[in-house]
Amino acid sequence: MAIRTKVVERPKLNFWQRIYLSEVLRGIAITSRHFWKNTFFHAMHAIGLFKGIQAAVTILYPEHRRDMAKRSRTRHRLTKRADGSARCVACMMCETVCPARCITIVAEEHPDPTIEKRPASFDIDLGKCVYCGFCVEACPEDAIRMDTQIIDTAAYSRKAMVLDIRELLNPNPLYSQVPPPAEKN
Ligand code: SF4
Ligand code: SF4
Repeated sequence: MAIRTKVVERPKLNFWQRIYLSEVLRGIAITSRHFWKNTFFHAMHAIGLFKGIQAAVTILYPEHRRDMAKRSRTRHRLTKRADGSARCVACMMCETVCPARCITIVAEEHPDPTIEKRPASFDIDLGKCVYCGFCVEACPEDAIRMDTQIIDTAAYSRKAMVLDIRELLNPNPLYSQVPPPAEKN
């Protein structure tokens, strides 16, 4: 079957549109309007007036964060048993189902004879993860969850984006764990 394509002509710009001056002035006007509006309401808030009207549309991230929906898929964590060890039984279901191939588990025998295996190591490469949640759905032990409410994935190196079992059992934002690179003179 022949594929029909529709060619859309680029609209011709007039002189004022070609020099962009009117658009630049319009942008400055919009920015100025927001600036003076926020300045006015911040000043009013300082003296106790107009408290019900929000003064700025931004928040001081990362010190302040918006509340996230409880069901949001955020950074992974491994759940623990009563003794603090990982609930994971190293069945490899999550590693097998992961479409990004970013989970790497090495299994070992569990000292408790009623539990077959446990993870000797459990790594998730956040640089490859697509946050699909398949690993959580596939787990038969409720041993992995994505409910930490941590959304920071920035790090100073690719290596630092790989979470090991220690980090998965005690999740913290990456930037608090990795020191920044040394300043160059
Ligand atoms: S969320 Fe998806 S891509 Fe990320 S580790 Fe789990 S299964 Fe893999
Ligand atoms: S599916 Fe659950 S129990 Fe199995 S290896 Fe993954 S986290 Fe561990």
